[in-house]
Amino acid sequence: MSYQHVDVQGNSIDLPVGKVVCIGQNYLDHIQEMNSKTAPEALFFIKPATALVPMTPSFVIPSSQGAVHNETEIAVLIKSPLKKASVDDVFAAVWGYGLALDLTLREVQAHLKQLGRPWEIAKGFDGACPVTGFVPAELVTSPQQLQFALSVNGQSRQQGDARLMIRGIAQMLSEMSQHFTLLPGDMVLTGTPAGVGPLQDQDKLELTLLPWLQVQTAVTI
Ligand code: ZN
Repeated sequence: MSYQHVDVQGNSIDLPVGKVVCIGQNYLDHIQEMNSKTAPEALFFIKPATALVPMTPSFVIPSSQGAVHNETEIAVLIKSPLKKASVDDVFAAVWGYGLALDLTLREVQAHLKQLGRPWEIAKGFDGACPVTGFVPAELVTSPQQLQFALSVNGQSRQQGDARLMIRGIAQMLSEMSQHFTLLPGDMVLTGTPAGVGPLQDQDKLELTLLPWLQVQTAVTI
């Protein structure tokens, strides 16, 4: 299915579809559940535009490369260029906020990490980034206080609170823009809290971004 950024009503947003710049290890509880080796430098990586798919009514996961994990994350849609931007300048460049899944082939990723290789094929495959509609930034007065959740088959699996981010949204956008120019239509994924785990065919997911957004979707293979 082709992808276009949309708002929460499903109206298409007049921006191109670009890259997705992501941060890893941005919530302490997720670092702990992964036993991750950390460093003071931020862990940034990119998913290509071809990873983007609509979150609803369902999305497809790979079926023959081991476990595909959910990572629920606040997604930030960029509307104007950010290049070596200061923290004070970044919010003016944000179109809005939504939720995305940073789908991860966890066994492939573990193998690549063991080999000391980049993990693109574990996180950047076609369909690796289902995305909801976006809430316009004008409505979100305190993006750094956003709370979100994922439930799978009626069971709570992830609870996120932007206040617990190690790098907040402004800091992250500024730092990312030192390395990569963020262009209109690019998206930033802000990291996942604890609760990552395998998704299965026919799982029913509910994603909530309080109080703006609640969507139901399903996993297919
Ligand atoms: Zn992630």
